[in-house]
Amino acid sequence: MTARRAGLSAALIDKAAFPRDKLCGGLVTGRARTQYRQIFGGDLSPDLFQPHDRIAFHAGGTRLGAVQNTPRLYLTMRRDMDAHLLDLALGSGASNFTGQRIAHLDVDSPRVTLANGAVLTGQILIGADGVTSIVARALFGRAFDPERIGFALEVEAPSGPATETIRIDFDAAKWGYGWRFPKLRSTTIGVGGLQAPNPDMKGRLAQYRTDLGDGAECAVKGHFLPFGDFKRVPGRGAVLLAGDAAGLVDPITGEGIALAWQSGAAAGDAAARAIAAGKPQGALRLYRRALGPLHRGLRMAVWLRPLIFAPRLNPLFRRAFGRSSVVKGAYLRLLAGEVEYPGLCLLVLRRLPRAALRDLRRRHAER
Ligand SMILES: Cc1cc2nc3c(=O)[nH]c(=O)nc-3n(C[C@H](O)[C@H](O)[C@H](O)COP(=O)(O)OP(=O)(O)OC[C@H]3O[C@@H](n4cnc5c(N)ncnc54)[C@H](O)[C@@H]3O)c2cc1C
Repeated sequence: MTARRAGLSAALIDKAAFPRDKLCGGLVTGRARTQYRQIFGGDLSPDLFQPHDRIAFHAGGTRLGAVQNTPRLYLTMRRDMDAHLLDLALGSGASNFTGQRIAHLDVDSPRVTLANGAVLTGQILIGADGVTSIVARALFGRAFDPERIGFALEVEAPSGPATETIRIDFDAAKWGYGWRFPKLRSTTIGVGGLQAPNPDMKGRLAQYRTDLGDGAECAVKGHFLPFGDFKRVPGRGAVLLAGDAAGLVDPITGEGIALAWQSGAAAGDAAARAIAAGKPQGALRLYRRALGPLHRGLRMAVWLRPLIFAPRLNPLFRRAFGRSSVVKGAYLRLLAGEVEYPGLCLLVLRRLPRAALRDLRRRHAER
């Protein structure tokens, strides 16, 4: 959309024909909504994005708290949302090459040969082709680092009672969490986190579903998730990586939709500016500058992550989360895009020493 709006011709290639399923919780945050408004114009339609304002947090079988009137969150099915986004892109004049597998890729030209023999050349190539990106593989030899990658499993279970809330379970996976997202026609239940500390993610999902009382027969599906493993250099010259292909998933919340939209738009804008300047090879430099604040936030999130997930520290986090409306509020404001990581880091640095001291005193008194 951004490239088309800037007057470029654009070819949209996807191996899938739409509508297609994409494994995803489909939680759309306030941050994503802001991106949607800026990029696509208009607002999230309630037909596709159902608003929610209640969320419950659990850990180790204990309810840490429920929050009413949260900053607005939305739930969607990616099958519907992605078909809608494709319509918007085609409506803006992008050429449609969906349902076409890439047979060969030359990142130097850049030139793409499709399985049906068609050859597409362009000045800029944006690889927004997900976590197993063929473009990233062509650039760097592999799409992600297997030591640092995340993995998630999900089922679409039957719909629960109308009163069911969004639920997050911090203990359902190590260095990750579990989720139950009630939607119109199903309930998405999943667990995800870093892959290395969770060799039995299937067992974790089975346990989580048992804990939730979900015994329905349904297909379990899994997908990698670049959970904090973003590419410091997201491309080369006139070839840019966006979204999961660039590793842009929040290392704490697992949010990827907003970051994919933001980086896709930034890539389109960098492409337009580089072409206008007659220097397509300069696109990466412009793109990296645009992604600077996002990368800075992700680096801070990687720094904060052990406070939430490391086994030695997470009891402190959970106690603080359960007791303090400030901590819960900060988490929700982060989800909503009302606070970014620099602001959150400041809050943590200010409150952590006092919280740790209080916790130490309390545990000492309990002995
Ligand atoms: C289980 C799970 C739950 C998640 N839940 C959430 C959530 O609730 N909220 C949230 O914000 N994020 C969530 N995420 C993260 C989110 O799904 C991703 O970050 C987001 O989809 C990234 O978008 P993308 O466009 O970069 O990649 P994708 O959505 O993966 O899209 C990549 C596209 O590229 C196409 N493609 C791939 N290879 C090729 C090829 N060789 N040739 C042509 N086309 C190709 C694919 O068909 C696909 O359409 C979740 C992820 C997982 C795995």
